[in-house]
Amino acid sequence: MISFLDLKKINEPYETAFQQKLKSVLENGWYILGKEVETFEKAFAEYCGAKYCIVVGNGFDALVLIFKGYIELGKLQKGDEVIVPANTYIASILAILQADLVPVLVEPKLETYNINPDLIQEKITSKTKAILVVHLYGQLAEMEKINEIAEKNNLLIIQDSAQSHGVENQKSTAAYSFYPGKNLGCLGDGGAITTNDSALAKVLFTLRNYGSEKKYYNEYIGVNSRLDELQAGFLNLKLPNLDADNEKRRAIARRYLSEIKNEKIILPFWNFSNNHVFHLFVVRTENREDLQHYLSENNIQTVIHYPVPPHKQNAFQEWNHLSFPITEKIHNEVLSLPISPVLTETEIDFIIEILNQY
Ligand SMILES: *Cc1c(COP(=O)(O)O)cnc(C)c1O
Repeated sequence: MISFLDLKKINEPYETAFQQKLKSVLENGWYILGKEVETFEKAFAEYCGAKYCIVVGNGFDALVLIFKGYIELGKLQKGDEVIVPANTYIASILAILQADLVPVLVEPKLETYNINPDLIQEKITSKTKAILVVHLYGQLAEMEKINEIAEKNNLLIIQDSAQSHGVENQKSTAAYSFYPGKNLGCLGDGGAITTNDSALAKVLFTLRNYGSEKKYYNEYIGVNSRLDELQAGFLNLKLPNLDADNEKRRAIARRYLSEIKNEKIILPFWNFSNNHVFHLFVVRTENREDLQHYLSENNIQTVIHYPVPPHKQNAFQEWNHLSFPITEKIHNEVLSLPISPVLTETEIDFIIEILNQY
């Protein structure tokens, strides 16, 4: 069976280094917010071309804390509206709600799966204060157009970069996740915020730690969302290979795009720039269950990202009557092929061959 994502194989090359890191953390006897965290914050900020990096407990917290930080700074208020793509992973929408803000869903483009900038303006009201851009499946959204709209309407831009570590041109405040399956993953939960906004960074460094800068003195109503030394240590070992891993993903994508030739399978759009890190390689097909079954019969594991759009989830019954035809079409037709950096050439050959025989 070609597994969709072989995490064990992804982390195998680091095994000895991980064990040494565990030993060194044990020897130091310091487990939360220490040297490993500081080192990683510096390295990841530099890697992203941002002034600041604040690590937190997971990607969801990263999003929530950005919103809470802007609320503390008076740039957002409870009840403000935030534009967000209708086909995003549910975490983006839940984070807006968690910060007492109001999500406003906008349709994506069928070709890129990213928010359609031409449909944003009509959703803007006097309460709209921010756009949460999601670089879904690893592809940079149309930032030039989105930046223009944000500037014209005086909106904040926040990026959900949980699937796009290493994509160039992510210039505004961004939330990252280091969930094990992401392009940069730790051995548990982890997340980070990158920003060039020094006032926001200052608030975030305290918000993640009970709103406290000086121990037992609290400036803000904060939360507990810290990254431990061990996870930061693992990330310090993996970060130097992120670009090479992303390049492997792009190499597989290039092969899929040029060699998969089947009328029944619609391939994703890519302009062949570094604006895509292929967290996922998502095709569309009319009879998805049939294709997934066929691939599984041929020992190729696939996953659906995602089967139910947010507005059709049981959790959002008040939205169930809404209609987002592009979003619904995407959720009915998408199927993610294996694209991890540990796939072998033989496996890629086989996947292409089986798809072309379908
Ligand atoms: C994974 C993910 C998140 C949440 O990250 P966690 O670390 O799982 O909390 C948020 N947004 C998107 C688009 C994601 O893919």
